[in-house]
Amino acid sequence: MKISGTTRSIAIVGTGPRGLAALEALVARATDGGATWAVDLFDPTAWPGAGPNYSPDQSPLCLLNIPVRALSVEPSPWAVLSRGTFADWLPAPVDGDHFPPRAEIGRWLHARYSDLIERSPGNVVITRHELAAWRLERAEAKWWLHSDSGRSGPYDEVLLTQGQPQTAPDDQLARWQAHAVRSGADLLPAYPDDQVLEAAEGWTGRPVGIRGLGLSTHDVLRLLTCGMGGRFDNGRYHRSGREPSRIFPFSLNGQPPAPKPATADLDARFDPSPEETARFAAALSDAPAQAPDAALSSLCAALAEPALRILGETGGDADRKTVQAWLVTERDTPGAQNELTTTEFLRETIEMALGRVPPSPGYVIGQVWRKLQDELRRGFNPGPFAPATARAVIGFDEGLKRYSYGPPVGAAEELLILIDDGLVDLRAVDDPDILLIDSGWHLVEDDTSAKVSAIVDAVLPPPDLGRITDPLISSLRTEGRLHPYADGFGANTREDGQVTGSDGRVQTGLSLLGRLALGNIIAVDSLHDCFGAARDRWAEGVVSRSEG
Ligand SMILES: Cc1cc2nc3c(=O)[nH]c(=O)nc-3n(C[C@H](O)[C@H](O)[C@H](O)COP(=O)(O)OP(=O)(O)OC[C@H]3O[C@@H](n4cnc5c(N)ncnc54)[C@H](O)[C@@H]3O)c2cc1C
Repeated sequence: MKISGTTRSIAIVGTGPRGLAALEALVARATDGGATWAVDLFDPTAWPGAGPNYSPDQSPLCLLNIPVRALSVEPSPWAVLSRGTFADWLPAPVDGDHFPPRAEIGRWLHARYSDLIERSPGNVVITRHELAAWRLERAEAKWWLHSDSGRSGPYDEVLLTQGQPQTAPDDQLARWQAHAVRSGADLLPAYPDDQVLEAAEGWTGRPVGIRGLGLSTHDVLRLLTCGMGGRFDNGRYHRSGREPSRIFPFSLNGQPPAPKPATADLDARFDPSPEETARFAAALSDAPAQAPDAALSSLCAALAEPALRILGETGGDADRKTVQAWLVTERDTPGAQNELTTTEFLRETIEMALGRVPPSPGYVIGQVWRKLQDELRRGFNPGPFAPATARAVIGFDEGLKRYSYGPPVGAAEELLILIDDGLVDLRAVDDPDILLIDSGWHLVEDDTSAKVSAIVDAVLPPPDLGRITDPLISSLRTEGRLHPYADGFGANTREDGQVTGSDGRVQTGLSLLGRLALGNIIAVDSLHDCFGAARDRWAEGVVSRSEG
C-alpha cells in the first residue's frame, strides 16, 4: 500500500453479520500504509455483529439451520472474547451434530465485534452510531449520511449491509393487515419472537394459523408449544395446557423442507468427489454466456453424475432416466414431481435423513446442491450473467432450497409428532382459499375448512428492490443511484460490491452486499456467505481506490 498521511472515511450502514464481516476484511487490510481509516457504523441494533436474526436476547427455541460441525466461519484474527471458531468458543464441547440456538451464535458474533473494536490497530478509528440512516446525499464528490443526529460525513465510501430492510407487504398480507385492524384479529410476523410469545399467551385454546411451511415455521411451532411450557419426550408431545387449540400451517404447495442428514457420517455420503465438483464448476463457468435452458441443462447434467453415483452407493433408485426426469421437472416446475402428502413427505425424508431408507433422487440432488453452494457462489457471483440466465439459475437454487436449506431432523420429527398429536392440523395445508370473516380468517381447502382468529406470518419477503420501503434504499432507488438487476430482483452490483445506477454507471464508492444484491449474486441467505469472498472483494476495492 502506498497511502500515507491521509484519512479515508468509510460508513457502513447495517452491522449484522455481513457488516461485521466487511469491517473485519477492511481492518485486516488497513494495517499498513500510514493512512488513517475513520469508519462510522450506523445501526439501531443493540447487538452489533449479531443483527436481528442472531439477536442474543431471542428465545433459545430459534435454532440455526446448520449443525456445529458444518459451521465453517473462520475465527476472527483479533479473537479474545470470541476465542477461535464458534465451536472453540462454546464453554463445553458439544456434539457436532447439534444445531445451536441462533442467540448463541449471536453472542459469539457480538463478541467478535467487541474483539475488533478493542483490538483494531491505532490507525483505524471506529465510531458506532446507534441510529438508522435514512438518506444518502452526494455532494462535492463525497457521500453524506442523514440520520436522527443530523448529517454525518463526508465519506469516501459507503457500504450498505442492511439485510432485508423494511419491505411493503404483498397484496395478500396488506389485505390481511387491514382486516386485522378492522376485526381485531391478531396478525403477527414470526419475528421478533418475544412478540409472538407474548401474543401466544392470549391464544390458549384458540385456533392459530401459520402462513408458510419453511424454516421459520419450525421456530414458530417451537414458540407455540415449548415456548408455552409444553415439552417433547420419547417421541411424544406433552401439553402444558397453554397452547392454541390447534395450529394450522399452510403454504402455496403444502410441502415442508426435507431435514438434513442427521450425522456427519450420513452427511458425508452426499459429498461430491473433486472431479464431480470440477465438472460442476466447468458447467457453471460456461453458463453466463448461455441461454437459460442451455445453462440449466449443463448444470443439471453435472448434477446427474454425482446423484447417480450416490444413489447407487446408498441403495437408491439409480436409474439414469429417473434422475434425468426428476431434474427436468425440477427445472420447469420445482416440486411438481412430489406426489406425497405433507405427512408422507415428512415421514419419508426423516427416514432418509436418519439413513434408515435409501434416499430419493430429489433428496440426493438437494444435498449435493447444498454441498456445491460455495462452488456456486464462486462461479456465479463474479458474473456477469445475462438476467434471463441468472433468473433461471436463481429460480433453480430457490426451488432446491426445500432440500438444501433443510431443518435439523429433530425439528422435522417434532413437526410429525405434533401432527400425530393433533395439535398441528394439516387440513388446510395446501394452498387454501382464505376468506376474511368477523372473527379472523376462514381457511378452505377442497371440502374441509378451519377458522382461525390469529395468524403468524412466517414468510420472508423477497429482496425485490421495488418493494423496499426503508427510506434510505427507496430514496436511492428514486434518485436512480440503485437500480434493480432485473424486475423483481435486488440492486445491480459489480463484483466488488459497488452499485450501478439507472444510467448504468458505477456510483463510485457506494457499495451494497447481501440479500438486496440477489440477481447479480446468488446464495446470499447464509452466515457462510456473510464471511465469504464478497466481503474481501469489497475491502480490496476500497483499498485500491484509496491508493488512487
Ligand atoms: C429468521 C431468519 C433466520 C435465519 N437463519 C439462518 C440460519 O440458521 N443459518 C444461516 O446461514 N442463515 C440464516 N439466515 C440468513 C441470514 O440472512 C444471514 O445468515 C444473516 O443474518 C445475514 O446478515 P446481514 O448482516 O446481511 O443482515 P442482517 O443480519 O439482517 O443485518 C442487517 C442490519 O442492518 C440494519 N439496518 C437495516 N436498515 C438500516 C438502516 N436504514 N440504517 C441502519 N441500519 C439498518 C438492521 O438493523 C440489521 O442489524 C436467517 C435469516 C432469517 C431472516
